[in-house]
Amino acid sequence: MTKAVVIHAYGGPEALSYEDVAVGDPGRNEVRIRQGAVGVNYIDVYHRTGLYPVEGFPAVLGMEGAGTVEAVGQDVTGVKVGDRVAYAAMPRGSYADARLMPADRVVRLPDTISDRQGAAMMLQGLTAHMLLRQVYPVKKGDTILIHAAAGGVGLIVCQWAKHLGATVIGTVGSEKKAELARAHGCDHPILYKKEDFVTRVKDITGGAMLPVVYDSVGKDTVEKSLDCLRRRGILASFGQASGKAPPIDIASLGPKGALWITRPTIFAYNAAPGEYQANARALIDVVSSGAVTVEARHVYALKDAADAHRDLEARRTAGSIVLVP
Ligand code: NDP
Repeated sequence: MTKAVVIHAYGGPEALSYEDVAVGDPGRNEVRIRQGAVGVNYIDVYHRTGLYPVEGFPAVLGMEGAGTVEAVGQDVTGVKVGDRVAYAAMPRGSYADARLMPADRVVRLPDTISDRQGAAMMLQGLTAHMLLRQVYPVKKGDTILIHAAAGGVGLIVCQWAKHLGATVIGTVGSEKKAELARAHGCDHPILYKKEDFVTRVKDITGGAMLPVVYDSVGKDTVEKSLDCLRRRGILASFGQASGKAPPIDIASLGPKGALWITRPTIFAYNAAPGEYQANARALIDVVSSGAVTVEARHVYALKDAADAHRDLEARRTAGSIVLVP
């Protein structure tokens, strides 16, 4: 038996129950990981509330973790007992002391990256990689906009985009978050509760507007994000922290300048084990180089996962959150 955080029905943070669950021996292509840290992501909230349905109850939440391999299945070749690994992938179930994972979904961590950093960086870092290197490959000289710039994904995007030579504009919910985003490479933090971000983007770019907006806020921002784009610009709508984005009339994209809209997901961009491993390697490399730093800025005990969810949803967190078993 192991301890895990389970839901028996959709609900608020109180639906998270810390209890014993069975964790067996690994199947032929699986490993069992003794977890040192578990990542908390906004998608866990969507699973808890049912916005993204889980396949049945009881369900262990969580998509990300890091720790040490303690058992391997008979056909596993890439990793061995004692290796330190991290992952951000299906199947769900990372909110646990120990768990099974498919061996081709774990990535070996170098000694320079701790379990807490590994659990803090994998899912949000793969998201940043997808946005900046695949959805719209950022080039030196580009100016880009990232919403929730002081969030978990946001702080990684700010640093990585800066490293690629971009000018980074970011929206944030408070002065404190503006400072944090600035310290992570955001050239122009915008307090979007006080200032109109379309007007600010117009000012900052001298009217040229942007080739890409990375929007994870959804309902409150999507329509205005389209107004920040230049001709043939891309809106990457990759999340919905404020609620589901309203439907957009496709015909309206023509007069706005033949715009593109995409809904990228790390699942679609990491579907094949080979691409997942390559993307994770690119992330580990950029972190190992020091160009992007990732810190577990908020640490909770695994049994207090509900507190982590409350703080995340109330916008009290900045950067990455981990649970420690
Ligand atoms: P964050 O740390 O960014 O937390 C969410 C932030 O969104 C808040 O801190 C807040 O920042 C901002 N926000 C704006 N409006 C609201 C609101 N009404 N309620 C709550 N927060 C709000 O979370 P993550 O880094 O874990 O994830 C960021 C986003 O990226 C999420 O929307 C997530 O779903 C998405 N995502 C998508 C992936 C994909 O594959 N498509 C993969 C990973 C993440 P502020 O106070 O500054 O406004």
